[in-house]
Amino acid sequence: MTRFDISIIVPLYNEEKVFEQLVQRITNVINATQFSCEVILINDGSTDDTEKLIEKTCKADSRFTGIILSRNHGHQLAVSAGLMNVRGGKGAMIIDGDLQDPPELVNEFYALLSDGYDVIYAIRKNRKEGFLKKLAYSTYYRLQKKISSFNIPIDSGDFSMLSRRVVDTMNAMPEQSRYLRGMRAWVGFKQIGYEYNRDERQAGETKYSWTKLFELAFNGIFNFSDFPVKIITRLGFITVVFSLIYFAYNLYRKFYYNDVPQGFTATILAIILFSGVQMISLGLIGEYVLRIYNQVRNRPLFVIDKLIQDQEEKPLGK
Ligand code: UDP
Ligand code: MG
Repeated sequence: MTRFDISIIVPLYNEEKVFEQLVQRITNVINATQFSCEVILINDGSTDDTEKLIEKTCKADSRFTGIILSRNHGHQLAVSAGLMNVRGGKGAMIIDGDLQDPPELVNEFYALLSDGYDVIYAIRKNRKEGFLKKLAYSTYYRLQKKISSFNIPIDSGDFSMLSRRVVDTMNAMPEQSRYLRGMRAWVGFKQIGYEYNRDERQAGETKYSWTKLFELAFNGIFNFSDFPVKIITRLGFITVVFSLIYFAYNLYRKFYYNDVPQGFTATILAIILFSGVQMISLGLIGEYVLRIYNQVRNRPLFVIDKLIQDQEEKPLGK
């Protein structure tokens, strides 16, 4: 038996301004829940007083655990560090430290978890960001959904509750570039979205620079889609077909009308045809790179939900 049902994971990077308020809100929430909660605070290499504040909180209340990372590793890795230290027997909830994700929802999420859902992911009904950021987010999520080989829900971030077996499966995925919302979707099981209004950051300013956002977006595409490689091969084939049709047309003009300049046909054919051939070759090499990538990424091959054996259903890892 573990001491806790749910672990609440909170990554923190220079969040001293919002810290007291955060701990107060979470404490109020976990004092009132019907189930027991621990809180895992991760200091992602903050340069302000966040580390000291975490230490103080953890020493005052045994339900708080502090993980101090050696330097800034980025949000996804900070959350991963939290996931790898979950003691909650039933599962974990991931929230941002700036109170944009209301910790009070732990109750609603837990009810859904008890109903048999393995992943409860929050869907943002509204965003309180600038126009440009909103547009970028919305285009990106739609693009990603189109090209990924399985369903990654639109407009959901890392704010979610995961059952213990989902946490364990994600921890068993040793990939280096971690895109947690993709990994979460990859695991499968019963997943459900929960719409909520995303609050504004309560204090301090965003820690996600455009560079960090782009890196996250790239991971989302390259870790969960073969599309960028496949498209090179497809474009290559289209180009070759196009060049052959164009070549035939030029031959026809040459023999019937004789209005094509000397040497033109061969030149244009060489350019288009060989660009196509090169693209196909790149795509072929890409296929091998993909396979090497999939192999070294070393994800579990599949995840078993339940086993029916000896005339009995045996849910695995629940
Ligand atoms: N964060 C982190 N490491 C980073 C950047 C952010 O741990 O390198 C934390 C941050 O402290 C916050 C959460 O990740 O708790 C989300 O960051 P933020 O609110 O700045 O992102 P936004 O909501 O603006 O996308
Ligand atoms: Mg935020």
